[in-house]
Amino acid sequence: MIYGADRRNSRGINMNVMTQWLPLKEDLDKFLAQRWSGAPIVNGQRLSGEARPVQCPYQLSHLVGEVVWATAEQTRGAIDQLAAAFPAWNATPVDQRATVLERTADLLEQNMAELMALCTREAGKSLQDGIDEVREAVDFCRYYALQARARFATITLPGPTGESNELYLQGRGVFACISPWNFPLAIFLGQVAAALVCGNTVVAKPAEQTSLVAVRCIELMLEAGLPPQVLALLPGDGAQVGSVITADPRIAGVAFTGSTQTAHIINRALAARDGAIAPMVAETGGQNAMLVDSTALPEQVVKDVVHSAFTSAGQRCSALRVLYVQEDIAERVIELLKGAMAELHIGDPANRDTDLGPVIDAEAREGLLRHVEKLKAEGRLIAQTPMPDGLDGHFVAPVAFRLNRIGELNRENFGPILHVITWRNDTLDQVIDDINATGFGLTLGIHSRNEETAQHIDSRVRIGNVYINRNQIGAVVGVQPFGGQGLSGTGPKAGGPHYLLRFVTERTRTINT
Ligand code: GLU
Repeated sequence: MIYGADRRNSRGINMNVMTQWLPLKEDLDKFLAQRWSGAPIVNGQRLSGEARPVQCPYQLSHLVGEVVWATAEQTRGAIDQLAAAFPAWNATPVDQRATVLERTADLLEQNMAELMALCTREAGKSLQDGIDEVREAVDFCRYYALQARARFATITLPGPTGESNELYLQGRGVFACISPWNFPLAIFLGQVAAALVCGNTVVAKPAEQTSLVAVRCIELMLEAGLPPQVLALLPGDGAQVGSVITADPRIAGVAFTGSTQTAHIINRALAARDGAIAPMVAETGGQNAMLVDSTALPEQVVKDVVHSAFTSAGQRCSALRVLYVQEDIAERVIELLKGAMAELHIGDPANRDTDLGPVIDAEAREGLLRHVEKLKAEGRLIAQTPMPDGLDGHFVAPVAFRLNRIGELNRENFGPILHVITWRNDTLDQVIDDINATGFGLTLGIHSRNEETAQHIDSRVRIGNVYINRNQIGAVVGVQPFGGQGLSGTGPKAGGPHYLLRFVTERTRTINT
């Protein structure tokens, strides 16, 4: 493993994998062998229905467990009940709501081994990704609890005519949280925690591929003291459950993380309803670039490129997709990249020397392999990590191709595929224009020891998160608020001080004293 020593947890603390997870190893092995079951949870009760098997993405014959999907009727029933529960939850003091989040954080930590094992089994996450996932979920809970306590304090305003004026925040109503499979715990819980702490009741629809993690997470929230009537968990597919949720006029807002295409569908569905105008927090994809000039240190660049492009098998919306390297150092960077890619280990994500586990499912793998075929025709192969024999799962080998220009690369390829393009001093501004022209604006890496160049790039790109002389993934809650612009989402940024503001309404109260 080539970057094991430099892995950091979601708080930016250097994680020594050996000492951090070995104490849990026995537990972990026990949980890796466990079967889980999941179902819609409404009013604290599991609903019954036909159970579907959940397959493990890296050991296809292994059954992770089974899950019941919600029906359209159950979805409508859940929204009825959440609408009725809203006024009381909204009137609950913010301190009590925040305390539930803090207790949930404690329980997540206490159940780390199980949650890591479940992330590995259901989503194919490496153990290190599993640790990061749980830590980030914990961070979201504690951070939003803290933010809510500060933000919900009543603000006294001037009363020039002798009246008393106050401004304070309230929940909006029934909030929908629709989350992705690539952070089945952290992003799922981040949305839910934010919506709940603001006084909303929540209808949560996890990604089809990762319902079991979500079910376990909600069970822990209930154990932490969340009143059962304020949250409904509805596993299911977009057509059956998602579209019923977004068409319902009682939905007061939506938090969504996933593809740009789905964000557009949700946006249109919200706009087509009569009734209240609902805000949306969308965090979508990226066509993320790293710009490297000739003053950069090639060794550091390659370490950060490999980490940014291939961690989590490239299945992060922050991941590096297009490396733009200045001609003068391109050959050196490419040589080092070949060496580094040859060293990556693909395989069982539950092994601690594995760098890349599987991608999420067969459909994802097929789409990525189709893109690789296209690149074989349009670009020049730089390197492909050797795939070990005998793997039984949805594995895609990391691959890098050299291209002349970004061309048709207008959609995100959510996996371990890196595109490399060279530039000259006189084409830097063209590169910046190309990056902006994609319409995406999530992460950008800059590697340069020339401050002026870094500043020039930074000031011209339309990007949510810019990382200079380091890797460009793993935003830390409260430290690097995360989210993009344009095709990459709406903001406010997750894990940032403004996030909760999209989940609330403001009330001004004037009293004639
Ligand atoms: N926040 C994550 C990171 O910085 C990415 C989230 C996502 O993939 O949606 O790597």
